[in-house]
Amino acid sequence: MFQTKKRSHAALAAGLLAAGAITLLGGAPATAVNTASECVDTHAGEHSAARGLPGVKGHDRNEISDAQAEAMNADLRKKVMEANQRGAVSALAAGGTINVVFHAVSTTSGTGKMTDATIAKQIKVLNDGFAGAESSVAAKTGFTFVLQQTKRYTNDKWFNKGADDAAIEREMKTQTRVGTAATLNVWSVDIDGLGFATFPNWYAGEPKLDGVVIDYSSVPGGSATNFNLGKTLTHETGHWMGLWHTFQGECTKKNDEVADTPAQSGPTSGCPEGQDTCPASGVDPIHNYMDYSYDSCYNQFTPGQNTRMQNAWTAYRSGK
Ligand SMILES: [Zn+2]
Repeated sequence: MFQTKKRSHAALAAGLLAAGAITLLGGAPATAVNTASECVDTHAGEHSAARGLPGVKGHDRNEISDAQAEAMNADLRKKVMEANQRGAVSALAAGGTINVVFHAVSTTSGTGKMTDATIAKQIKVLNDGFAGAESSVAAKTGFTFVLQQTKRYTNDKWFNKGADDAAIEREMKTQTRVGTAATLNVWSVDIDGLGFATFPNWYAGEPKLDGVVIDYSSVPGGSATNFNLGKTLTHETGHWMGLWHTFQGECTKKNDEVADTPAQSGPTSGCPEGQDTCPASGVDPIHNYMDYSYDSCYNQFTPGQNTRMQNAWTAYRSGK
């Protein structure tokens, strides 16, 4: 099957979901975003938790406004301050063990079927990324992912629309999700792109929708050319742990709220070594898991991203 997966923004199909996503934003007021604003300009300081959604730019279901981003950050800062007062942040700064439930969805004709060996490889890729095993400058986050359970479903509707239709996504996740805010649920389906994640601060409002959806073709050995080393799951789990894209905020000083990921004007395609798209110092962080580069180009989270993940973990997931 010919694959044209790439890490750009969502296809039109996700326009439907953009409306659904509004209700998922937890603390952010629903009026702060509308479908129109999500569709107009993805380069206007908006945000995305989706990776590799091809097609029309601006329909990324997770794009949020600057106001919503600031609301999310304000909430994170408040919760971190409260946790600091309780002494909880330092206790968790070394990471933790995260149980993973892998939901492998396939069709009646067998598309999407996944072996235990493939799932094990996928979990190893995830662990390598969070362990900083791919680069000497990568953060060693201390988070370890342990496969707790693999669940398999034969369901054409879920496979084909489980990530691209809000009602079907809700049905699939509600019927299958396992665990708490600290449990990473991964669904593999045929997503219109490569992946999609919920942010940690959404959990309180929509606990049953919490988790990561990846395209079945993105797993190690899958059919998504340039994106089949399994690092879509690393990227999406970064979102699930509270990270934004490295191109968030584009060339602004605030950028992605992480000081050691230099600003970049937009998502990267391929692996253009030395690319530098913003006047601020530092070349674009094309090797960062939170850019849109090829899997082969990805090799790191930064220490600053690690701090943000630790904080979000403490604020929204650990023990929740
Ligand atoms: Zn993303």
